[in-house]
Amino acid sequence: MQRLLARGLVLMGTMILAWAGAFTSARMNADLTALLSQGPRVAGTPAGRAAGDYLAAELKKVGYTVEFQPFSYSRTRDQGSNLKVGDKDIPVNALSGSPAGRLEAPLVVVMGIGRAEDYIGLNARGAIVVVRRGGIPFLEKARQAATVGALGMVVVNNTSGNIRGTFGGGGPIPGVTVSQEEGQALLGQSGTKAVLDVRTVSEEVQARNVIARRGTGNPQAIVGAHYDSVVGAPGANDNASGTVTVLELARDLAHSPISQRVWFVWFDGEEDGLWGSRKFVAANPDLVRGLRAMLNLDMVGIDVLGKLGMGGDAQLFGLAQQSADLEQVSLQDLGANEGGSDHVPFAQAGVPVLFFTWGLDANYHQPGDKIADLALMAQAGRVARGVLERVVQ
Ligand SMILES: [Zn+2]
Repeated sequence: MQRLLARGLVLMGTMILAWAGAFTSARMNADLTALLSQGPRVAGTPAGRAAGDYLAAELKKVGYTVEFQPFSYSRTRDQGSNLKVGDKDIPVNALSGSPAGRLEAPLVVVMGIGRAEDYIGLNARGAIVVVRRGGIPFLEKARQAATVGALGMVVVNNTSGNIRGTFGGGGPIPGVTVSQEEGQALLGQSGTKAVLDVRTVSEEVQARNVIARRGTGNPQAIVGAHYDSVVGAPGANDNASGTVTVLELARDLAHSPISQRVWFVWFDGEEDGLWGSRKFVAANPDLVRGLRAMLNLDMVGIDVLGKLGMGGDAQLFGLAQQSADLEQVSLQDLGANEGGSDHVPFAQAGVPVLFFTWGLDANYHQPGDKIADLALMAQAGRVARGVLERVVQ
């Protein structure tokens, strides 16, 4: 009885020590503070550079070999765009990649999100179309609008406030987003003359992915998170949360044989159209072909879904479920194609992917994105570790 009890206590002691070592709040909090102190980590800016340097320094401390993968792309900057309807000036955000231009044309309100079928029986030729956000990418909406002869596009946000969206490349026609509040008023104004003034300028972005590895040879799995954020948003949940969780996971695994078979990658330029992950996949075809899994953590610091959401490969989801059961985390299956983040280029290259997220919070891409919950991040990190333990050999 005594001996059993003593053994139990020793076991408990070991468990507590192990638990305290991994996903330590104080350390993760220090990481979050360091990343957020720089301001928005927009790709190609000094803040983005400082974030990459911070990650590299932290990873070297625990013995990783760190490499930067530099790349460049062009992006547009909005110098203040406007929509004038009647006498009223309505503030709008140009979609990144939108051509500049000043259009005078009637509004045509599209009943839907701007799919091809939403234009049946509607004459949008020569018009500025008004569509709702959601369902399909902005670029797809713009292509449909251009196909039916529209000259410009206004996307009404589907949550409160406005966002900064991107075409993920060059858009076919000028496109802007408007806040849900301002947009509501537009929905009843088909036929009204409007002036859409899109004032974008093009700039070349020098960005870089941060890659950490310990082993030689190609990895069996990649764990990734984008570390860039959008103009005007501190990017705590999107995506300092994933950035810090993957950093802490790398620290946690630094002394495990698993880290010999895994690469940890922090992607840059995600917000401008998945540039970092696309460049990584394009630059490493052999490596990508051999991957058993790519895990992507994006927005893991605010509980929106009530469960840890997970999208992607069904078999990996099964492994995540086993891991989550042990960690007492509830999962929500988001299905095969959920989410437009850095796992997508890997999935398109045939890699089994898993996308981790607690959901899209109300402060998404807004100045209020200042908070990420360390306990939620730790839960996502532990489930990810469990998946790696089951995938990597
Ligand atoms: Zn994100």
